[in-house]
Amino acid sequence: MAKVVLGVAVGVAVAACAVAALVVGRRVRTRRKWKRVVGVLKELEESCETTVGRLRQVVDAMAVEMHAGLASEGGSKLKMLLTFVDNLPSGFPILGQYSMIVGVPPVCYFGMVFEFLSCCNLAALSVSCSCILPWSEKGTFYGLDLGGTNFRVLRVELGGQRSSFDRDVAQQAIPPRLMTGRSEDLFDFIASSLQHLVEKGNDSEQSPIIKELGFTFSFPVKQTSVSSGILIKWTKGFAITDMVGKEVAGVLQQTLARKGLNMQVAVLVNNTVGTLALGHYHDADTVAAVIIGTGTNACYWERTDAIIKCQGLLTTSGGMVVNMEWGNFWSSHMPRTSYDIELDAESPNPNDQGFEKMISGMYLGDIVRRVILRMSQESDVFGPVFSSLSVPFALGYASMTPLMAAMHEDDSPELTKVARILKDDLKIPDLPLKARKLVVKVCDVVARRAARLAAAGIVGILKKIGRDGSGCIRVGRTRSDTKMRRTVVAIEGSLYTQYTMFREYLHEALHEILGEDIAQHVILKVTEDGSGTGAALLAASHSSKSVDNVQLL
Ligand code: ADP
Ligand code: MG
Repeated sequence: MAKVVLGVAVGVAVAACAVAALVVGRRVRTRRKWKRVVGVLKELEESCETTVGRLRQVVDAMAVEMHAGLASEGGSKLKMLLTFVDNLPSGFPILGQYSMIVGVPPVCYFGMVFEFLSCCNLAALSVSCSCILPWSEKGTFYGLDLGGTNFRVLRVELGGQRSSFDRDVAQQAIPPRLMTGRSEDLFDFIASSLQHLVEKGNDSEQSPIIKELGFTFSFPVKQTSVSSGILIKWTKGFAITDMVGKEVAGVLQQTLARKGLNMQVAVLVNNTVGTLALGHYHDADTVAAVIIGTGTNACYWERTDAIIKCQGLLTTSGGMVVNMEWGNFWSSHMPRTSYDIELDAESPNPNDQGFEKMISGMYLGDIVRRVILRMSQESDVFGPVFSSLSVPFALGYASMTPLMAAMHEDDSPELTKVARILKDDLKIPDLPLKARKLVVKVCDVVARRAARLAAAGIVGILKKIGRDGSGCIRVGRTRSDTKMRRTVVAIEGSLYTQYTMFREYLHEALHEILGEDIAQHVILKVTEDGSGTGAALLAASHSSKSVDNVQLL
């Protein structure tokens, strides 16, 4: 009997030990898996490191590549395309050699001067590096802005007075099926939207019978004149093969004629050029423009004698806007991760647009998705891997980055917005708070790297044109005695304007790279609907000119 009792007791003890071992074992395994998830984040943080030293190397590389791209055709990954825009509109009088700001003080943002055109009313007495048009155009002009996600149609009413115009804008998302279909369908869609705005409007009496149109086409184009150019390649998920190699303005012109619209494509410009035009119209110290939206690109004002690959290029102003196509920039100093490599391989344009794929709205959300997917493969805390996580660009090209921004900026203690987005959009329900915090951290790492690289790109341009403070006049002994010209960079794109954390990181990095003394002279100005409005302004200025200012000898 005693033996039986002993046997039962031993059996119970063994079973209890086994259960305890099982529980402990499971806990150890869970902890180990969690450690691996945390390890994924740590590895990401390390491989996305952007120290100021590294950013300065990217700055130097950008300036070097700009020189190379200007020196010879195909000399760099930066195409440095001629735009044939040799004059920029200005809404202010030209009165002197030096820049002086009088009026409303700009808003100070994170230590960085940050001015919104829509709300600031600076009276600036200045002259810029470029030739400025006398501004007396009157009438109604149109702008078409084909971005990567959105399409905008604009009507700009010019009153013939400096710095005054009214604007009417209609925006709609580009239907994804049109991005990969036939060119005829895309251009029909564009022309119909324009037709709608024209019919709705009440054009001023000064408007000519044939209406002038500025077409902003945000893809790499080899310009053949200010109003014509050949599509080099598609980016940002577009793949309409029958368009590559075609003259873009001509295709639009034919479509307008087919639809019975009496309109003339007066200028064909890149979105950066439109943004620079509007930026310059409002502030003559504007020397460059940057877009950070679905994709990213920049342009700036260059002296014609620096455009070595085009010797004999003569303009009345002595300069021309150069479209950098910086989305294709690459430097070995850029911190690249396995996620970037996989994203590139699975993108519609592998081995292309390396800078853009680390910076712009089309890609940031997808990098975050890839990291969350890796985490979910390391631990079951995320539950089973759902298709929404495992398919590249699963939520479309435009959706994931706004969701990433919303998660990143969720400041509720329980991260309720993060929980909702994970549940509703990524189909990951009931993720514990500690895992939600990791997701926010992933968004932070990816956005911070992107913003800091964009800042390095901007300083690269400033370095190329001698506006980074390295070559400026010192009037005293210290760095703060340095005399630096006010330098304005026009900026547009929803990633920058809508994603506060991204914008703050970008400004922070500009300060780190340039130093406070120099950074206070560099102003980033948002131009509202600049790419389309600027194109309409350029259409106005080019419609009234009977002579072509540009000569290629
Ligand atoms: P486009 O590139 O078509 O000219 P936008 O400049 O408006 O258009 O940029 C659209 C892109 O900006 C979207 O694809 C998206 O990636 C990003 N975006 C839009 N809204 C936000 C937001 N709130 N937060 C972060 N990114 C955003
Ligand atoms: Mg745009």
